[in-house]
Amino acid sequence: MIKEFLSAKYLAWHILIALVLAVVVAATIRNPGFGLTDETLASISSWIHIPGKLFVNALKMVVVPLVFAAIAVGVAGMASQKSIGRIGSKTIALYLVTGFIAIFTGLILVNVIQPGNMSEDAALALVESVEGSADQVDMTNRVQGRSWWDLVQILVRAVPPNIFDALTNNSGLLAIIFVSVVFGFFTTKLDGPIRETMENLWQGMYDLTITVTLWIIRFAPIGVFALVTVVIIDTGFKAFGPLAWFVVTVLAALILHFFVWLPLMQLFLGRVSPFKYYSKVVKAQLTAFSTASSSATLPLTIESAQNAGVSKRVSSFVLPLGATVNMDGTALYECVVVIFIAQIYAATTGEPFGIVNQILVVLLALVTSIGVAGVPAASLVAITLILGAVGLPVEWLAIIIAVDRILDMCRTSTNVTSDLTVAAIVARSEGEELPEVKAA
Ligand code: ASP
Repeated sequence: MIKEFLSAKYLAWHILIALVLAVVVAATIRNPGFGLTDETLASISSWIHIPGKLFVNALKMVVVPLVFAAIAVGVAGMASQKSIGRIGSKTIALYLVTGFIAIFTGLILVNVIQPGNMSEDAALALVESVEGSADQVDMTNRVQGRSWWDLVQILVRAVPPNIFDALTNNSGLLAIIFVSVVFGFFTTKLDGPIRETMENLWQGMYDLTITVTLWIIRFAPIGVFALVTVVIIDTGFKAFGPLAWFVVTVLAALILHFFVWLPLMQLFLGRVSPFKYYSKVVKAQLTAFSTASSSATLPLTIESAQNAGVSKRVSSFVLPLGATVNMDGTALYECVVVIFIAQIYAATTGEPFGIVNQILVVLLALVTSIGVAGVPAASLVAITLILGAVGLPVEWLAIIIAVDRILDMCRTSTNVTSDLTVAAIVARSEGEELPEVKAA
């Protein structure tokens, strides 16, 4: 019985247990009763971080070959069935729809809850509390020299001048996607044995990376335990103080999107039972939560979608694309943060943030979320761009830095869940049965 429970079949449970253990262990270590100094805590945390880092590195190690091979295989399959245009447009349309739903959810909640609506004194105190702080200096360094031009450059870089260069950059998945779509498509234009050789090459590379992924995934509980323990040791269970309503707003919006809108879409558009489907992909959701990186989670995302019955053809195209361009949680977050800061700005200056600006924020949040890389804290740069565009003080972003990591974990899990939802809907629209998760 115990042996059975320890098998890979129960991996999602192992990860969940690891997560709970991480909270318990970190809380125990931080307990003031132990009397550990900050230095000792930092050193414990850096030791525990090692297996977590190894796990994330191992996942990142397979991301580039996996994305390349998966898309080449998927596109070659679709091109020979002449379905690439159809699947491509359905995927992009659904990604846009889920993105808009997410942003509007954030927009409505931040306007209803009004987390930044406080007295002038409280707002000034909040702004002053971060002025010149380490967070603010760190953030200023991080975003220094960034501008809208970076976003344009992301699009320019999508066509890489050097394939081998592109293949060495984990944050430049868009370029890898472009190359693999082109290679996969033109493989089908080759003749006879050469075509077969190339198809076998992509297929072999794909099978190999998936097999390696399956092996890496077995270490997920250890990785998750280490990553979450470190986050809690480093940040603790802070009383969020004046940020409490902001945190509540972000979480409420993410929860609505994650637990209500996406499952409803799953049920009505895909005729897939949300409960059955999500229970098959929960390990990807938990890994996204722990790593705060949709790119690093991608190998697990693909593996779990296939485990739920989504075909290789659909999952290997829809999911890598989604991990790069479809970031619902991120878009929602960008919108809430900017409007939260606008509310604080209004409290200190009396200048309200008009409806035109709010619409601008919605559009910019969608556009920038497409360009954001699937790595931790990536949206902070996008948020500074939006703040600058709507005339709000960029350096005030430091106000939310203290709670960003935990919210990053939650939004990344939402990003990955949206990709998985769209993959199932596209699969069903292509006539795939997904017998194990089909709604009765
Ligand atoms: N960490 C997010 C992701 O990887 C991106 C972000 O919102 O910062 O999906």
